[in-house]
Amino acid sequence: MIYKRSSALFVEAQRVIPGGVNSPVRAFKSVGGDPIFVKEAKGAYLYDEDGRTLIDYINSWGPMILGHAYPPVVDAVVTKAQKGTSFGMPTEIETEIAKLAVSMVPSIDKIRFVNSGTEACMSAIRLARGFTNREKIIKFAGCYHGHSDSFLIQAGSGAVTFGSPNSPGVTKGTAKDTLLADYNNLDQIEALFKANPEEIAAIIVEPVAGNMGCIPPKNGFLEGLRSLCDQYNALLIFDEVMTGFRLAKGGVQELKGVQADIVTFGKVIGGGLPVGAFAARDEIMNYLAPLGPVYQAGTLSGNPLAMAAGLAMLTAIDTDKALFTRLEEKTAYLHKGMADALSNHTITHTINRIGSMISVHFAKDEVVDFKTAAAGDNDTFKKFFHGLLAEGIYIAPSAYESWFITDALTYEDLDTTIAAVAKVASTL
Ligand code: PLP
Repeated sequence: MIYKRSSALFVEAQRVIPGGVNSPVRAFKSVGGDPIFVKEAKGAYLYDEDGRTLIDYINSWGPMILGHAYPPVVDAVVTKAQKGTSFGMPTEIETEIAKLAVSMVPSIDKIRFVNSGTEACMSAIRLARGFTNREKIIKFAGCYHGHSDSFLIQAGSGAVTFGSPNSPGVTKGTAKDTLLADYNNLDQIEALFKANPEEIAAIIVEPVAGNMGCIPPKNGFLEGLRSLCDQYNALLIFDEVMTGFRLAKGGVQELKGVQADIVTFGKVIGGGLPVGAFAARDEIMNYLAPLGPVYQAGTLSGNPLAMAAGLAMLTAIDTDKALFTRLEEKTAYLHKGMADALSNHTITHTINRIGSMISVHFAKDEVVDFKTAAAGDNDTFKKFFHGLLAEGIYIAPSAYESWFITDALTYEDLDTTIAAVAKVASTL
């Protein structure tokens, strides 16, 4: 049994941690089997507790865009830690990283740091509600904005209707303020605005979706959201927790030339430490305490280790002019190799890709929203996942996740992966 030690560790973990994990998707529930316990990681590789080396396509769910244990980030954290790990007082490095982030991203004047993407999105919604003095928000089915109550909402009886809680513990009262629509569907958004013309504070959207596989916006979708928000005086929130500093220096706003009112960040901005952030123009950000009436706070927000990691990461991204081209080329190479391998074995599939985000769907039609993503064959995905794992390739243990390409991957790694895909395809 190759995962002997991981499985033993999982048994131990389950005694003291619910389900043995601190975040549900890690438990392999949707693909079956025991999760792999990781010992360490470097560059593009994970080293697991059973002594195996795996090529990593999750990269901590996005942050490690330059590879694991990236030396400038590690050095920055180690140096900072020796000077104290938290003060709960202002530090110069918070301003340094804020200045850099503001210079890289379009449409933002000020940024506030928090500890996770969840906090960033939760705070962005409160700010939007406070600023507009309205209560309802619109989110898209299949988009994930963290685990705060307003976002754990599923579609009600019709697609264009109020949501209902999709976790016990979320109140019906909260759910009634979250309206749901299908991704890439502007008609539904227009209908929601028409039905609630003066009640919608904001639309929150992953401008490239990464939580139902990778789903890029259709041409005109983001522009349409922008103009509907303008028409109905609502704010447009881009959740760039996944895409920020990954798809371009300035995220999807830069890539697609559409400006949001509030932008949220996580993952890459923290270089692998627990960081999130939200940002907007002055007028909106000045609504936040201590300047304005909207309350938001955090004991560890702007933590020096997290800021040091984030600053080292953003500096590396800002100064490497060829990074995004390299990432795109590697992802395109992988796309072509996998598509050929799957087609050669007549496996029905759709591959979605944009920049360094990519996902393989065992679906015959275009995957453009949650429904079309859910039409994929999950049994085939499970076999694909476990087949690749046996070949030393680690992809997300769920068909609803994007893969994240890291710059640390070599073309040799990509060829190894494509060969593994071909081998697994022959067994599907
Ligand atoms: N927003 C998006 C788009 C995400 O993908 C995630 C996490 O995967 C979040 C928000 C929540 O971030 P966190 O897990 O850091 O709370």
